[in-house]
Amino acid sequence: MHVLITGGAGFIGSHLAEYHLALGDKVHVVDDLSTGQLSNIAPFLDDPHFRFTEQDILTWCELDHAVGWADRIYHMAAVVGVFRVLAEPIKVLATNIAACERLLRAVVHGGWRPQVVIASSSEVYGPQGRVALHEGMPLLITPGAPPRWNYAISKLADEALGISYARQHGIPVVIARLFNTVGPRQTGRYGMVVPRFVRQAVRGEPLTVFGDGLQSRAFIDVRDTVRYLDQLAQHASTEGVICNVGRDDEITIENLARKVIERVGSTSTILTMDYEAAYGQAYEDIPHRRPSVRKLHELVEHRPTWTLDATLDDLIARVRAEET
Ligand code: UDP
Repeated sequence: MHVLITGGAGFIGSHLAEYHLALGDKVHVVDDLSTGQLSNIAPFLDDPHFRFTEQDILTWCELDHAVGWADRIYHMAAVVGVFRVLAEPIKVLATNIAACERLLRAVVHGGWRPQVVIASSSEVYGPQGRVALHEGMPLLITPGAPPRWNYAISKLADEALGISYARQHGIPVVIARLFNTVGPRQTGRYGMVVPRFVRQAVRGEPLTVFGDGLQSRAFIDVRDTVRYLDQLAQHASTEGVICNVGRDDEITIENLARKVIERVGSTSTILTMDYEAAYGQAYEDIPHRRPSVRKLHELVEHRPTWTLDATLDDLIARVRAEET
């Protein structure tokens, strides 16, 4: 199979590349390296089945050709991470929406029919309270809301584009609402909590818990995510399928901090910070976020193989190796 991955030098994209190369597929990654990093794909650069193009898909002149080559496209390219979303609110909207549209237009223009997987996000649900978030529920995005929601709005627009292109032009599309994904190669630079806590604990620095720490998240290991995405892609349809991709084990951020400290055997303390100090501006956090995995498990056979503890131990070992 020929697999095109936009944003393939990013955290999840690079794991998709690794997974498909291991299956013997041919993989073409396009990434402008604005969020993604060359080091994420460096191990594959010598693989004859792997090709990397450093381009922005908004302006890439070979997009039509690349799209025609692909049997499957994972559209992972996006401006992500809370710190960047707050710092660049217009870029998030403009880039995320225009890139998805240009990609889908290229597919239609060439008359191609690859399976298209569009990465959406659990952010589209907004703050819903303590319920398992399921694909059929109405979404809670506040008009004129703080810049945090620009990311959700951009992803919602991508979903609408995906569904519309699927139905109007007969392209098989699946939209994956990705929940908090963790694992090797994720950077804490843009705000993601797990890589930040692991590095802080290994260094013996205080773990920065934002807010009261009672907010909760359900984390999935990226190596499970890519298997889910591969299996979901096989359900891409001209109706456009929307499906959560996550795990439904929830943990509070304070308990996550305690767990990381314990597993590292660290002397680190917990430093509670208010959101204003943490993000440099008023910030509306999501108190709880947990997916319903009912639809996912109806559609695909895969079940998670990584527990949060196993992922943390793996990350701790990697950061220790880096730091020594
Ligand atoms: N968070 C935290 N300390 C950090 C980074 C994040 O307490 O150093 C909190 C953050 O405020 C949120 C949760 O951890 O409540 C998850 O944050 P992340 O940015 O990883 O994901 P998201 O908020 O998008 O679910």
